[in-house]
Amino acid sequence: MDANAIKTEEQLSASAAMPHDTLNAPWSLHFDRDGTEDVVVICDADGDDLLYSRCFWRAEGDDFEIPLTLSAMRLIVAAPKLLTALINLLGDKPDIQNGQCIRCGRDYQAYPENEGGNCLSDDCPAYQARAAIAEATAAGHDGGQP
Ligand SMILES: [Zn+2]
Repeated sequence: MDANAIKTEEQLSASAAMPHDTLNAPWSLHFDRDGTEDVVVICDADGDDLLYSRCFWRAEGDDFEIPLTLSAMRLIVAAPKLLTALINLLGDKPDIQNGQCIRCGRDYQAYPENEGGNCLSDDCPAYQARAAIAEATAAGHDGGQP
């Protein structure tokens, strides 16, 4: 990075409780500008650098598209909050209650052995949420299957 680089900061930190202390969240997003190009740096809760983006060009004003790199880095910095929210949304109650998935509405009346368990349909939002959580936490060693 150029010694004359202009450093700006954009705080996108979370106040939500973290599911894993090892993430050292909330994370924050910072911009380092070098001439006309930007690099985004994601820092952990201690302010230590966690991740650098590739260089990208960020136009100023109202008439520009948000660069893919910036959108991706914003998504990454929000990931701990999203993970916590997803875990909290799923809660601790099973998907299948009274013969029906409470998440997608699938009828399990014909499968009483599934009562009190989780939905088995891969198009169910709860199934997809568990898969994403497993992938994010590396809980699933088979690529994130719930
Ligand atoms: Zn379901």
